[in-house]
Amino acid sequence: MKWLDSLLAGCLPLVPNPLLRTMSGRYLAGESRGEAIHHARHLATTGYRITFDLLGEEIENSSQADDALEEYQSLLVDLSASELEINLSIKPSQFGMGIDWNEGVERASQLGDEAADAGGFLRWEMEGSETVDPTLDGFKILRNRFGGKVGCVLQSMLHRTANDARGLLAENGTLNVRLVKGVYVEPPEIAFVDSEAITASYLETLEILLEGGAWVGVATHDPVITGALQTLLASHPEYEERCEVQMLLGVQESLRVKIREAGIPVRVYLPYGSAWRAYVLRRLRQNPRLAGLAFQGMFGARERLKA
Ligand SMILES: Cc1cc2nc3c(=O)[nH]c(=O)nc-3n(C[C@H](O)[C@H](O)[C@H](O)COP(=O)(O)OP(=O)(O)OC[C@H]3O[C@@H](n4cnc5c(N)ncnc54)[C@H](O)[C@@H]3O)c2cc1C
Repeated sequence: MKWLDSLLAGCLPLVPNPLLRTMSGRYLAGESRGEAIHHARHLATTGYRITFDLLGEEIENSSQADDALEEYQSLLVDLSASELEINLSIKPSQFGMGIDWNEGVERASQLGDEAADAGGFLRWEMEGSETVDPTLDGFKILRNRFGGKVGCVLQSMLHRTANDARGLLAENGTLNVRLVKGVYVEPPEIAFVDSEAITASYLETLEILLEGGAWVGVATHDPVITGALQTLLASHPEYEERCEVQMLLGVQESLRVKIREAGIPVRVYLPYGSAWRAYVLRRLRQNPRLAGLAFQGMFGARERLKA
């Protein structure tokens, strides 16, 4: 019942934290670094690659950005001491780019230095459309310094994205892009609103990037896109070494298994930390069916949530 799921999804902001936390366990690797690493070990033994994300985006002062950097530095130390790959996803706003651009990029460079020394990789994520230029400017600085050890994100919903991809390819140096549809609500003057147009833009940009020699993280849960990727790889086997599929923890797990079994590497995005509420509300709102199931789970049908 779609209307009931949507109604329940709309009620989620009213749900108190302890209950919401129980309902949303599938999307979170835990509140602590230790829990996240434990979760990652389990996924790694079942054949997945991992990227870690510390939850929290809209910070209010630079000391919160310093705290985020410090937590990532500790994560890096713990990962270095483990057998796990070091792959960190960081949000420019969480690193303070919106408060002071230079300081935000400097924090990312500091983490990038430490990650590079440990053989790790840093993904500089993308947020709302108003941040695209400063984020790509920051990425260019990071790319000059760390080459292929740092990557950016492009959002296919934005009209500008195919051109951004061409522009980044035209510059010297290795290019590593995570391609997404985009999670922010954007005005129709600058963004595609129709889902078919967003998918078409995604596939166009994917081809531009792979043809141009970039390494691409195909971040999606959309079977239309993963199907198109499989077709593309069948006609261009040379692209295989330069791409993987990336999926959020807890989302479309059966598709995740199918892709891995088809021989395409899959990286799972592992969010952790205490600032989980906003992230979880977004996940459940994006998929009202899961919100409906989560509510049913509270009333005795919890096993369905694990599907
Ligand atoms: C690894 C990764 C990193 C990302 N990083 C960024 C980023 O830096 N910046 C940015 O703007 N966006 C980011 N996103 C989000 C992305 O932009 C999309 O909003 C999200 O992936 C949904 O688009 P889709 O391609 O999966 O297709 P959709 O058509 O939206 O979804 C396909 C199917 O998956 C289900 N689904 C999709 N997403 C979710 C979800 N979150 N929760 C529950 N069900 C879901 C839908 O119900 C639908 O059935 C990231 C996504 C992934 C997978």
